[in-house]
Amino acid sequence: MQKFAVQNFGCRASQADGAAIEAALAAKGMSRSADGHSDADWVILNTCTVTSNADDDLRQTVRRVHRENPAAQILVTGCYAQRAPEEIAQLPGVSMVVGNSHKTQIAELIAGSHPGFVQIEAPSYHAQVHVGDIFARHDFLASPVSDAAGDRSRPNLKIQDGCNNRCSFCIIPFVRGRSRSMPVGEVIEQVRALTAAGYPEVVLSGINLGRWGREPGFTMRLPALLRRILDETEVQKLRLSSIEPMDWSGELLDLVAGESRIAKHVHAPLQSGSDTVLRRMHRKYRPRHYEDRVRRARALMPDAAIGADVMVGFPGETDAEFEDSRQFIESLPFTYLHVFTYSERPGTPAADSAAQVPMAVRKERNRVLRELQTRKHQAFLKSLIGKHLDAVSLDGQCSALSDNFCKIRLTEAVEPRKQIKAIVLGVDGELLTAQPSPC
Ligand code: SF4
Repeated sequence: MQKFAVQNFGCRASQADGAAIEAALAAKGMSRSADGHSDADWVILNTCTVTSNADDDLRQTVRRVHRENPAAQILVTGCYAQRAPEEIAQLPGVSMVVGNSHKTQIAELIAGSHPGFVQIEAPSYHAQVHVGDIFARHDFLASPVSDAAGDRSRPNLKIQDGCNNRCSFCIIPFVRGRSRSMPVGEVIEQVRALTAAGYPEVVLSGINLGRWGREPGFTMRLPALLRRILDETEVQKLRLSSIEPMDWSGELLDLVAGESRIAKHVHAPLQSGSDTVLRRMHRKYRPRHYEDRVRRARALMPDAAIGADVMVGFPGETDAEFEDSRQFIESLPFTYLHVFTYSERPGTPAADSAAQVPMAVRKERNRVLRELQTRKHQAFLKSLIGKHLDAVSLDGQCSALSDNFCKIRLTEAVEPRKQIKAIVLGVDGELLTAQPSPC
């Protein structure tokens, strides 16, 4: 029986794809290598290409796998494979490059039962390449990810893929294709299965989650789907991952605020607080629209987690624009930030800009916003002292995650995968310390 090892890079959607690939290989009679890639016959590297660092990580990993297990066949798939197959096919040790366009056929490709590929021949290597037009794909690949990053209590369920937006810095639409949604019945079925398996919380994710159900053939949107999940399953807690600002509609915010079975957690990518930078990014809102959504969320949910992705160093970003962005972020009730440094992505309009910001300036701006992130997060943690929070126990030791997305160290161990109440006693670095009490 052939053995495989799958290594995922990047976002929740990529992790969910990787879980689906594993399920498909197991269904073909292959077994997961107990020792990672070192004794696998097939090593599947499921890539990300959202930054140049992600590309570097993949190339380093291919070299390492090929050095440590030269007999292994290396199959590279995912977003980097879709964006630049020839670049990857040239790497020593790579046997197959499979784009997101053909990801659902990996098990057949490995079994050799899939004709129609391009064989790239060159003196130092050979590789099969299966990459097609990503915009011609309508299939949906996903499987629940139940043990991401050692967190065995909160499986990630990808219910949406692709994106129809065209933010000028972003490569994702060109590697993941048009927005498409998991059918309602399948979502309900998956949530029921995860709940029956004993998971107290399910995280719904997507590339542009707020666009779930927007394509032809669907009759409802995300809020209605959430209501159906709550009505038709026993799930104890749903958590929404990142949703674009304008999709945090009044209806969705009211539902999240009013439903105890939905985590009080709003994550809305901002990218920049400067109006002129947002325009050049081709983002679909102005700072005032964003501010309106965030202030509404805070008004409805005084202790909710409110987080944002923010980018520094976008082409042409002046000191004044960065200061506008910093002041805008400072003025809003964020509880955490994910700070990203702009990275040129070949094939995106922003990468062709002549006004690239020097890397040293990008790094300094990143440092400034990370400092702001720390101040805001610490202030939020301190504001919770003395409060009773809903939380989910994670590892059977003393760690838990609160409904409003704070990491907790409990004063005593609690069985894993339990919804609990926690009384906040204090703050210790990035953690809340809390005393558990049964729900
Ligand atoms: S919304 Fe913009 S940033 Fe997000 S995936 Fe789509 S194009 Fe990329």
